[in-house]
Amino acid sequence: MEKTNITIIGAGVCGLAIGAYLSREYRDILVVEQHDAFGRETSSRNSEVIHAGLYYPKDSLKAKLCIQGKDLLYAFCAEHAIPHKKTGKILVACNHEEAAKIHAIQKNALESGVTRLHFLSQKELQHLEPDIRAQEALWSEDTGILDSHQFMKTLYENAKRQGTEFAFNVEVVEISKKNTGYRITVKEPDGDLFSFETSIVINAAGLRADRVAAMAGFDIAACGYKLHWSKGQYFRISHPQKFNITHPVYPPASKTDLGIHITPDLAGGLRLGPDAHYTEDIDYSVDENDKKIFCDSVSRFLPRLTLEDLVPDTAGMRAKLQAPGVDFSDFVIQEESKKGFKDFINLIGIESPGLTSSLAIARLVRTFL
Ligand SMILES: Cc1cc2nc3c(=O)[nH]c(=O)nc-3n(C[C@H](O)[C@H](O)[C@H](O)COP(=O)(O)OP(=O)(O)OC[C@H]3O[C@@H](n4cnc5c(N)ncnc54)[C@H](O)[C@@H]3O)c2cc1C
Repeated sequence: MEKTNITIIGAGVCGLAIGAYLSREYRDILVVEQHDAFGRETSSRNSEVIHAGLYYPKDSLKAKLCIQGKDLLYAFCAEHAIPHKKTGKILVACNHEEAAKIHAIQKNALESGVTRLHFLSQKELQHLEPDIRAQEALWSEDTGILDSHQFMKTLYENAKRQGTEFAFNVEVVEISKKNTGYRITVKEPDGDLFSFETSIVINAAGLRADRVAAMAGFDIAACGYKLHWSKGQYFRISHPQKFNITHPVYPPASKTDLGIHITPDLAGGLRLGPDAHYTEDIDYSVDENDKKIFCDSVSRFLPRLTLEDLVPDTAGMRAKLQAPGVDFSDFVIQEESKKGFKDFINLIGIESPGLTSSLAIARLVRTFL
């Protein structure tokens, strides 16, 4: 192929959702992915929670796309028989300081347009989660869990059926701007380089979206596009039947992450995590020494939890625009004509709630074409 209309870099959930949505209307779409299949990075290393959008500042892209994306995602899962469950979620406070935090979270969420959110009485909490102890508990009815692999597989199949082409094992290594459009050079599995032209570039490269933007000539420091990686580890409860937990249960979020929470999965398992540590390396190992931190953190509201209940599970990497010490950074999702890169669409800093927001992100990207 010498020329294509739209090139999407990255077959994570965002690249797949964009490919599936645009291919309903546009021809000649190519998705380029460095791994041998879709969803090999962050999109398959997360909590698989459909977020209701409690935490993000009013009018931020995160708030708007999460709230819109959640509704689209529930509808999509129902339409395509993707395993999912609207479990609801409980946000717990174990002391006065945390109670003040969850009241502030509720206030922000209601201002941002989140609905079906109210405080539980102790009796209601005990009815929903008999093993959980909390001073106060906020109930978010619209939170849920899904099978993210089935979701991505369906997006992939829809995109393919509608004519989107996928090039796996192919890494984008160079992008140069032409008078109109872009020339993209990729490294093929045998190490050979191959170049082609494209009218439109959509950068959905997750953890490396800043590097891909830099390849095209964006000054990522000046644009504020430098990504900071934050690792999140999970531990699994080895005998989940010991507990009677059927809803995600969260402590109050901090400024950088949602706090180590309990998430039930669709197979009846229970995971704790993720924690959050800024790091320079992509590393999916789980440090067994951190078990005590997880246990101490969650046993505050699940008192029967002991160290022996926990086994290391997986880890994921967040692509954060938020540098250490910064309060909040929004998603960057924009067409870059103003910076001199017509028809180049950047998606940068797509951390949580990126999975929940993915179908809404695809619709936003469509408005730039
Ligand atoms: C620990 C953790 C928990 C999370 N929990 C949730 C949750 O419960 N709910 C929620 O809504 N969100 C959650 N998220 C966020 C969510 O997982 C991400 O927002 C989402 O997966 C990002 O998808 P993506 O397509 O942007 O990136 P990715 O999935 O990382 O995909 C990017 C793709 O680009 C490819 N790529 C990169 N560079 C190149 C190149 N040069 N050439 C070719 N291909 C390239 C990569 O190989 C990769 O496949 C969580 C994230 C983490 C880390």
